[in-house]
Amino acid sequence: MEVTICHCTDCQVLSGAPFRTVVAAPIGQFKLTGEPKRYVVVQSGKQMAQAFCPECATPLFAAAPENPISVVIRVGCVTQRAQLRPYAQIWAHLALPWVSELRLIPE
Ligand SMILES: [Zn+2]
Repeated sequence: MEVTICHCTDCQVLSGAPFRTVVAAPIGQFKLTGEPKRYVVVQSGKQMAQAFCPECATPLFAAAPENPISVVIRVGCVTQRAQLRPYAQIWAHLALPWVSELRLIPE
């Protein structure tokens, strides 16, 4: 129940995609091996550190830069991404107009 699709313009730009799919997790359940690189952006009025792989620049997660209580993991980098079905879309009024028509676009 923590998987969402975000259509906000920050997620469009920062992900380089029409929307971003994320899963939130308490920091206590988050295990990090290796050391990602980070940059801080202001999203919805609050600072968020965006973590990415220093080798390939894959976006990994975001969290408060200081004393985070949760992390927002980028579903695209999660091995179990096929099982992490979104339950809600947020900022849907900012969705790109063709997103709702994906099934109509020829494969
Ligand atoms: Zn967003």
